[in-house]
Amino acid sequence: MVIGDASIAALPRTSGVYIFQGEGTLPLYIGKSVDIRSRVMSHLRTPDEARMMAQTRRIDFIETAGEIGALLLESRMIKEQSPLFNQRLRRIKTLCSVRVLQTAAGAVPEIVDSKSVNLGSTPALYGLFSSAHSANAKLKELAQQHLLCLSVLGLEKTSKRGCFGLQIKTCLGACVGKEDRHTHDARLLSALVDLQVEVWPFSGSVDLVEERDGWIQRHRVNNWCYLGTQCSKTGEKSKLPELKPHEFDLDSYKILVKPLMLGHVKVEVVDP
Ligand SMILES: [Zn+2]
Repeated sequence: MVIGDASIAALPRTSGVYIFQGEGTLPLYIGKSVDIRSRVMSHLRTPDEARMMAQTRRIDFIETAGEIGALLLESRMIKEQSPLFNQRLRRIKTLCSVRVLQTAAGAVPEIVDSKSVNLGSTPALYGLFSSAHSANAKLKELAQQHLLCLSVLGLEKTSKRGCFGLQIKTCLGACVGKEDRHTHDARLLSALVDLQVEVWPFSGSVDLVEERDGWIQRHRVNNWCYLGTQCSKTGEKSKLPELKPHEFDLDSYKILVKPLMLGHVKVEVVDP
């Protein structure tokens, strides 16, 4: 490895993204941290990463004003540049979810996908899955755990004698009126509650504001989709793309849902 102590010492102890560069133009690895220098040093000490280190010629970094900016930037850079040593993530073109419809008979789950519904603005969605098959599998698993009726859930054919689960006592009898439908449905919703997909809580774009040592970054987000960052240090305001209806973005959703819903980040509503 040819990285000297001097170049390690040049790394800041602040939040941001770091890039391991090899001989070629494409990066070997992109990572993020709230303390770039100590994170890079822990890479150097990891025996499993010796091969990557041997190929590293230079470590670049981009500072951010806070952790959210580092997460958003890292996610976007990995998507754009697919570094050799970052874990290959399968691109999911169509995301699936479970929508619970309230019908006259009761609550009925149906599998929907990102082609037919906007996942960031549709209420009563539960779980984000890479396929309809895995959404179905999750529903079946929950049904088993919570003694729900597969027939009532639409996962099994209905018959007058009730579902198969009734015979083997994995159904409490909603299919034959032995269990009250309301009780069954309440159990379904409580089984799903941890999977609930949060609806974008604003009418349009907002800026998430992060500040450090007198410089400010504003990360513009709409419908859980990261649009770009305006930075008071570099003055990169023009890089914000034009606003248009945005597709739900799973990576941005995962990064932003907790800080936004828990109020852990300063939000400025953007004038339409
Ligand atoms: Zn049943």
